[in-house]
Amino acid sequence: MLEAALKIINKIEENGYKAYIVGGFVRDYILGIESSDVDICTSAKPKELVEIFEGAVLPKDDYGSVSLMVKNTTFQITTFRTEVDYLDYRHPEEIEYVNDLNEDLIRRDFTINTICMDKDGKIIDRLGGREDLSNKVIRTVGKSFDKFHEDALRILRAIRFSTKLDFDLSDEVKEGIIKNKKLLDNISYSRKKEELDKIFTCSNAKKGIALLIDLGLDEVLGLRNLDKVDVTESLIGIWSIIEVDDDTYPFTNNEKELISKVREAMNINNLDPYNLYKYGLYVNSTAGVLKGIPREDVARNYEKLVIQTRKDLDITSNDIIEKLGFKPGPSISKIYTTLEKEVLYRRLDNNKNALINYCLKNFSSDII
Ligand code: ATP
Ligand code: MG
Repeated sequence: MLEAALKIINKIEENGYKAYIVGGFVRDYILGIESSDVDICTSAKPKELVEIFEGAVLPKDDYGSVSLMVKNTTFQITTFRTEVDYLDYRHPEEIEYVNDLNEDLIRRDFTINTICMDKDGKIIDRLGGREDLSNKVIRTVGKSFDKFHEDALRILRAIRFSTKLDFDLSDEVKEGIIKNKKLLDNISYSRKKEELDKIFTCSNAKKGIALLIDLGLDEVLGLRNLDKVDVTESLIGIWSIIEVDDDTYPFTNNEKELISKVREAMNINNLDPYNLYKYGLYVNSTAGVLKGIPREDVARNYEKLVIQTRKDLDITSNDIIEKLGFKPGPSISKIYTTLEKEVLYRRLDNNKNALINYCLKNFSSDII
């Protein structure tokens, strides 16, 4: 990935512009962490970049980044800029392209995100980012109050980097967060959820949650019960404990369904065969882990189930309708549920004859 990135910046430089790798990639590279994307900053303007690179995609909005896909890696190429007058605490009112790397670095959020690498792989550190990296501390570029006041999303980015890298927030950063936390109201719930999801999926998520609580962010973010989250193994598990108002955070339908099932499954025995069958392995193990039941215990019991889906039952609805003369409709579903339970609790063998005989004996009154 580094090789491909260096190739890209060399190509930009060959065309007479300046270009550097910047941001997360360089930060993670120095820390020995793998990155999934690469940010490049350059003096070349988007139109000039699409002339240099075939397949480069122009940004949808003015002043966005050009993106370039090379072998499954996205390279975000952003023209040097300064950002002026933040109006809505998120989007700068005006952006100006500039020619100088320093000016571009000054508008960035944290010092550890301003370290660059040039076309020869040399590290360029104009704002003391390396020192902060080795001291494991998150500091803003310039005054913390101003940085968070301009763009409140940076509050959550600070928590995310502190969590992911296990770094401390400088005192000034903490103070800047506390003074500006109300401005998070101006940030869309979808951007807030993206950041929260990233914090919650860190292996160190507990640190992030503690920070959110200590800085009083749970309240401004509308995250009730955050202090009750003590198992952080699964994102859905965390969101199942947290309570948020409807129509705030945009959960996908799949997330909504899983969260509501996990909440239900918290109130049942997650090792019971029928519950395991009904709610499935994922929901039971997620709920189980939240209650302190080891994931392996749930998995072991799940593997032992006689049937895991209705298809595993050695009888079809056609058998029930045609061979036994039952009427299609809701009674079929009742019969199925009874058969499933009998088989799961091992009171009835899962073979066609046994199942048909059981039906004949027990459901005869339903026969037309
Ligand atoms: P990662 O990609 O690992 O999430 P990153 O630091 O690369 O972390 P990106 O969102 O990819 O973060 O942004 C790339 C760079 O752009 C950052 O390193 C930072 O220099 C700058 N940046 C991103 N978002 C902001 C912001 N809200 N305010 C100021 N600078 C920002
Ligand atoms: Mg990045």
